[in-house]
Amino acid sequence: MNYPTQLFIDGAYRDSKSGGRTTLINPATETALCEVAATDVAEVNAAVESAQRAWESGWRDLAPGKRAAILFAVTRKLRENLEEIAQLEMLQIGKPISDARDEAGLGARVFEYYAGAVSRFGGETLPVARGGIDLTLRQPMGVVAAIVPNNFPLTLLGTKLAPALMAGNTIVVKPAATTPLTTLKIAELLQEAEIPAGVVNVVTGSGSEIGDALVTHDKVRRVAFTGSTAVGRHIMGLAAPKLKRMTMELGGSDPVIVAPDANIKAAARGIAIGRFWNCGQMCLGGKRLYVFEEVYDELMEQLTRTVSKYEPGLGWEKAEKPAIRVGPLHTSSGRDEVLEQLQDALDTGGELVLGGSKPDGPGYFMKPTIVANPAIDGRVAREETFGPLLPVWKVKDLDEAIALANESEYGLGASVWTNDIRIINRVANEVEAGMKWVNQFHYGYDELPFGGVKQSGYGKEHGMEGLDYYLEDISVVIGGLE
Ligand code: NAP
Ligand code: MG
Repeated sequence: MNYPTQLFIDGAYRDSKSGGRTTLINPATETALCEVAATDVAEVNAAVESAQRAWESGWRDLAPGKRAAILFAVTRKLRENLEEIAQLEMLQIGKPISDARDEAGLGARVFEYYAGAVSRFGGETLPVARGGIDLTLRQPMGVVAAIVPNNFPLTLLGTKLAPALMAGNTIVVKPAATTPLTTLKIAELLQEAEIPAGVVNVVTGSGSEIGDALVTHDKVRRVAFTGSTAVGRHIMGLAAPKLKRMTMELGGSDPVIVAPDANIKAAARGIAIGRFWNCGQMCLGGKRLYVFEEVYDELMEQLTRTVSKYEPGLGWEKAEKPAIRVGPLHTSSGRDEVLEQLQDALDTGGELVLGGSKPDGPGYFMKPTIVANPAIDGRVAREETFGPLLPVWKVKDLDEAIALANESEYGLGASVWTNDIRIINRVANEVEAGMKWVNQFHYGYDELPFGGVKQSGYGKEHGMEGLDYYLEDISVVIGGLE
């Protein structure tokens, strides 16, 4: 495999002058994959300056139609190279190759979606000043710092890059320290799609070492952050004195409610996907399950049967072993944290229903795990669980289910399984979350604005709202012409 291992500034790959390097580990085997250059602060500054030059020297003035044509070319390039991108994604994260291919496909499609936004670029003329003309302009902002987490490096890169570029901004991307490979590969493909040098730059390395310099750089006008709530808070604090535009796509602990009239078989299947896909390392994911007592036994029986078929395994063996549905966790410390949350659930009265252990052998694997009725104020209820762990509680009615669903600092997603419009109506109105599903697992769509409430952040990605966050709306009043 040919790994891209250098940072990407001003249209060229280069090693870090400081000589710093980060060793990437394959989480499925715990062996080293390759060493990637670790950017230093001077190089972060060089990347921002390169982006600023590219913005001033043409990208911001390019007609939207021309930018749309380039984004369509990006989609084609990503599709032509889909297999290589998916292989890199699988190796750096550990997910099954089929999931990595799906992610690479979504990462390509988002450029096509925002290229289509070319028809939405107009401002408005408004009848305000009698005898004059009033209009609104939609202008790009300048340099965007895009900070991406480790669970979906491709799609979460696309949801920032595509609207930012369509709007006429330039970008410095910082992928997670442990998952830079697909971002670096895409930088090369963007150039082949004729994105000019400097419009997209990639700085690799540790967020705690270079993140502050990137976020606080004077020329960075907009910060697009996806990651944990803790790091998001830190970045907001850094960016506040300079009033940088921000979107904060942060952690979540989505509740799922199963009502007595639900199609239990469909619910069990959807809940399994919604919790255990990507080994449970998802922002949107059904992470707290509340089941009405009337259907609790039936649901649990179906759910355990479904989830017991989710076998952890090596992503590249998926073709020969279709039962492999989950890869490893991304890091050893990430797995330790989930195991500690499980232990807390068991110590506070929870009953282990399924899984609960690490399989033998190398890799940061953990068996898909279900725990029943732990304390309602324990760690799995209060914290985000970022791994294959599902706590389930029996509830007596909808009032209790909604109260418990809202008993969380997070508000990213929520779902309900029912055909009863009264229940749907109450969940739609009363559960505190930015995105809700009825009889569907937790899945994002390019077309639908996506973002959290409460401590899950603010601002939207996806949809035309996602583009709005990369534009300044400027009002112009023209009067008194002679
Ligand atoms: P994370 O630890 O918060 O890291 C996210 C990104 O921030 C990484 O690139 C990280 O770099 C960087 N970073 C760390 N410290 C920084 C600093 N001081 N300044 C600037 N950047 C800094 O999150 P993660 O572990 O990668 O991902 C999991 C979290 O992301 C979960 O909470 C999950 O729910 C959330 N998430 C949210 C969404 C959403 O759309 N709402 C989507 C996916 C994931 P390093 O890797 O070098 O530390
Ligand atoms: Mg992290």
